[in-house]
Amino acid sequence: MHKSHVAIIGGGCAGLSAAAALVEHGYDVTLFEAGSQLGGRARTVAVETNGLMHLLDNGQHILLGAYEETLALLKKVGINRKKVFLRIPLRINMQSDNAKSAFTLKSVNFLPAPLNLLFGLLFCKGVSFKERMSALKFMLDLKDTQYQIARDVPLKQFLINQKQSRKLIEFLWEPLCLAALNTPIAKASSRIFLNVLRDTFSGNKKNSDFLLPRLDLSKIISEPLSHYIQARGGTIQLNQRVRRIEVEGDGFDIETRNGKSHFSHVIIAVSPARIEKLIASLPKLNHVIEHTQTYQYQPIYTIYLQYPPGTKLPSPISGLSGTISQWVFDRGQLCDQKNLISVIVSAEGKHQDLTQDELALRVAKELNRAFPGLNKPLWHKVIAEKRATFSCAPNLPRPTNRTAQPNVFLAGDYTYPDYPGTIEGAIRSGIYCANLIHNK
Ligand SMILES: Cc1cc2nc3c(=O)[nH]c(=O)nc-3n(C[C@H](O)[C@H](O)[C@H](O)COP(=O)(O)OP(=O)(O)OC[C@H]3O[C@@H](n4cnc5c(N)ncnc54)[C@H](O)[C@@H]3O)c2cc1C
Repeated sequence: MHKSHVAIIGGGCAGLSAAAALVEHGYDVTLFEAGSQLGGRARTVAVETNGLMHLLDNGQHILLGAYEETLALLKKVGINRKKVFLRIPLRINMQSDNAKSAFTLKSVNFLPAPLNLLFGLLFCKGVSFKERMSALKFMLDLKDTQYQIARDVPLKQFLINQKQSRKLIEFLWEPLCLAALNTPIAKASSRIFLNVLRDTFSGNKKNSDFLLPRLDLSKIISEPLSHYIQARGGTIQLNQRVRRIEVEGDGFDIETRNGKSHFSHVIIAVSPARIEKLIASLPKLNHVIEHTQTYQYQPIYTIYLQYPPGTKLPSPISGLSGTISQWVFDRGQLCDQKNLISVIVSAEGKHQDLTQDELALRVAKELNRAFPGLNKPLWHKVIAEKRATFSCAPNLPRPTNRTAQPNVFLAGDYTYPDYPGTIEGAIRSGIYCANLIHNK
């Protein structure tokens, strides 16, 4: 055991991955989580509807084959990825709300990346030959420039400059941008979007596969990580919001409602929306507050609709176009939540003006038009995460993991500079902070 005692503040993906990496190296670790459960923005919640308790994820999460560090970490903590994920090779099927297929793109399985996507683009349905060629040229140009651009601009502007038609933007690039960056295309960073394209469509062709959880999210992420950490001597304290961090001697005092405890190192792994108060007592971190004060946030609404027995959609995942509903998941096909359908609405929009009941009703109507024959839902539950991710704007300042205060580190999705707010970004940042302590 090292002499260091590391405090980790926040039990989301970033804090948990930092803790797992540190206990593996024999560090004494205490993780403080403000809430009553681990997982942060990627967790399963118990909700009551019609007098019955249901376990629902706070949002339908999608992982990608390109999430290397996440998949390696989950393997280390005993997760069998073949059992817990349904792996679907990239296939975008956008349906209009009158049950017609508006756009279909299938990656070609027998070819290596990026040819699997390029061939998919060449043969996609719903846009003209000229449009397909312009999408193909766009991808080839990006490959030539290694997905780099000189100046970051809003993605919509970039795509128009690259001669991507209105239809291509509507059916292909915008749904991908919303799914990956959770930011409206007119506000999203082109540079970060291209990073996602690079990691998804270059390298191994499996990088572009969707990995859809077959179990509750907490069973895949926070529970196995927490067992791993505690089995190696780490301490996890729930319901312990850290109120203050003070420099004390050659370490830090961490204050919670239970009093103060002393640590040699601190990893702050809270969301950027929560950091300001926490670091107010550390003047060397003032620039972090200046950065995060410029952040805006984007919501994700997940609408769960329970249908009567016998309900089955044509595929586990479908996209809808021209509707409030964006992606539709058949949880019966995914994870044995029979007849339960979840619908994602990413980023800001007019849906936020509706009450939750109005939104559920509207979404149910859209589903009814897109998938004729659906009955009336028996119940619905809307989970609105108002600050699901930071708005991934062009040139957003990202604080570094190492701070000007020696032995204080920042982890969290917003600190991983290449990516939008994702599980992979959070996990990479946590592991990176652990390595900064270990490899000092
Ligand atoms: C609905 C939804 C859908 C999403 N879909 C996807 C997806 O499909 N794919 C994907 O990759 N990503 C997705 N994301 C994003 C992903 O969930 C996040 O990027 C990731 O979970 C962030 O992890 P984190 O550890 O950085 O932060 P958080 O998860 O926010 O963790 C921070 C933790 O710190 C705790 N905390 C805060 N203040 C204190 C304090 N003072 N003391 C102690 N603890 C504190 C919080 O309670 C929280 O548990 C989605 C997010 C949401 C909300």
